[in-house]
Amino acid sequence: MAIRFALPLPMLRAALRLLGAALLALLAPGLTSGALAHAPASDAIAPVCHAEVQTRSEADALRAGGKGWICDGSRPGADTRRVLLRFELGADGKVPAQLTSRLARFEAMRFDIVAPDGKVRQHMMFMRDFTPHRHMGLQVALPEAGAPAREVQVTVIGPTLPSLAANARLHAEAEPALSPRQMWIAVLCGVLLVPLFFNLALYRALRDRFLLWHVAVVAFMLTHSLVTSGLTPFIFPLPVGSLSLLIALTFCGGAASAIMMACEFIERPMLDDRHRSALRWAALALVFNGAWFVATVDWLQGAGTRVYFANWLVVLGIVAWTVTVAFRRGSRAVRFLLASWLPLIAAGIWQIGDALLGGQHEPEALFLAQRIAIGLEVLIGSIAIADRFIQLRRDRDDQQQRVSELAQLAERDPLTGLRNRRSIEARFMALRSDGFTTLALIDLDHFKSVNDRFGHTVGDHVLQAVAAALPDDRDVMAMRMGGEEFMLLLRGKDAAQRAERVRQAITTRIARDIPGLDRPVTASMGVVEIPAAVMPDATFAAIYARADGLLYQAKRAGRNRMVTERMTVFADHIPQRPGTEAA
Ligand code: GH3
Ligand code: MG
Ligand code: MG
Repeated sequence: MAIRFALPLPMLRAALRLLGAALLALLAPGLTSGALAHAPASDAIAPVCHAEVQTRSEADALRAGGKGWICDGSRPGADTRRVLLRFELGADGKVPAQLTSRLARFEAMRFDIVAPDGKVRQHMMFMRDFTPHRHMGLQVALPEAGAPAREVQVTVIGPTLPSLAANARLHAEAEPALSPRQMWIAVLCGVLLVPLFFNLALYRALRDRFLLWHVAVVAFMLTHSLVTSGLTPFIFPLPVGSLSLLIALTFCGGAASAIMMACEFIERPMLDDRHRSALRWAALALVFNGAWFVATVDWLQGAGTRVYFANWLVVLGIVAWTVTVAFRRGSRAVRFLLASWLPLIAAGIWQIGDALLGGQHEPEALFLAQRIAIGLEVLIGSIAIADRFIQLRRDRDDQQQRVSELAQLAERDPLTGLRNRRSIEARFMALRSDGFTTLALIDLDHFKSVNDRFGHTVGDHVLQAVAAALPDDRDVMAMRMGGEEFMLLLRGKDAAQRAERVRQAITTRIARDIPGLDRPVTASMGVVEIPAAVMPDATFAAIYARADGLLYQAKRAGRNRMVTERMTVFADHIPQRPGTEAA
């Protein structure tokens, strides 16, 4: 695997710390505001009865005192064109200032304000007249009442989810659209920007697509938070009708991105191609599902939303299947993903169930659960990414370790463990300028006969004994040039004499390590000293050839000796001074 990034661990640590602080800031307000959850406004008036009818004339008949009102506290059913709600007002006959309800689509609301004498004032309100109200709510101001009234009848015309109509409440005084809690959501939205930039920054280093998908997840959650919180009027004024569509779209988009992130994030061997393509199809299905919701919610109404929720179940099924497969195979990534998703899935099921079953009027607990779930998703998702980051770093370190081990192996002689010729040749110039200006070439005398008489294995042991006799420290480097030929590079004072002592130590060492030999094994040596200043351009090959010449002289002179030479001017292997011999 190519390693394409440098890993600034301190940066990662700092970013994680920042993230931790940000999440604290995110969760703390959610928890405290949850603890201080305010009771539904005391002046909220709930409908006492409701009725379900299909046509306008049926509705007129009911309002005129017809039968069909249901007053047992139940909710309207799923398929009805019109939901009528009857609110009884207090003894003072004060007409409420405001209606609030759950954020959902409908065509219009008709208000019939009934005076004590039975006189009715009628008003039509359309979706465009409504504005967002707190979490998942909408509101509209009732027209100024000239006279007191005894009841208000509200007809919700063409609701997408008729059961939600039962959430309508009237308020004597208008409740402000923005609660203190919403200010905290604004903080949350700001906080969600942190992992957004964090992941984008990581993407620049890692180039892994799951980071971009996580950015998409966070961006969708951010929008979803904004839309459901009722904060949008302060940022981009959208009609409430569009908001309820955006809720579905961001919900589907966020989930589709999360599925794509899983598809990219789960380790290669943990899923087969068919699992991955199933995940991609599931993500695509969610995109279509969002589009389906937007396109059909108004004309298919209940039927359209049922298809929408059914699609969700299919997608959840696919995700459950693939995630189980990866989990069984021991995927680490999927454990992180599950931990980050479970709270969101729980909150999502709660929300879907809430919507299908009609929803409670003030879904405070659901609201709080969603904030915490979003926070956990971001927190655990970011930990998962950091974990992957650390994993990659570990892999990279292991690989570097192996590369350097291989490089070492390539530079070492396997029999003796000494450096080989290649390792020195490349670095020779640098070593020379570091002061290694003495080269000693050592060759065992009559080594062939050792092999011939004692066998190749004993010969090998002799070579290993030679290696053990060669020093290797700050001022001496030892290498095996091939066969029974070794080389020393020396620096410092009296280099030739030190080399000579090594040469003599070879014989002693062989005798000690291989006791069965019948005669001492000696070595001959040629030593050249060429100060770097004298011949700055001398190549390894040229100096080596010179040492070899001196070694040959030593052999010719009877072996078991050193021939040394200190060069002053370099001219094509011709020594300026004749070699001096020492035995
Ligand atoms: P001289 O004194 O002239 O150097 O005589 P020599 O016998 O040492 O030289 P020669 O070049 O004739 O023989 C070198 C021998 O070293 C021949 C070869 O079999 C042996 N040899 C080379 N590499 C190895 C090795 O790795 N292990 C063993 N056991 N023998 C080796
Ligand atoms: Mg030899
Ligand atoms: Mg030889």
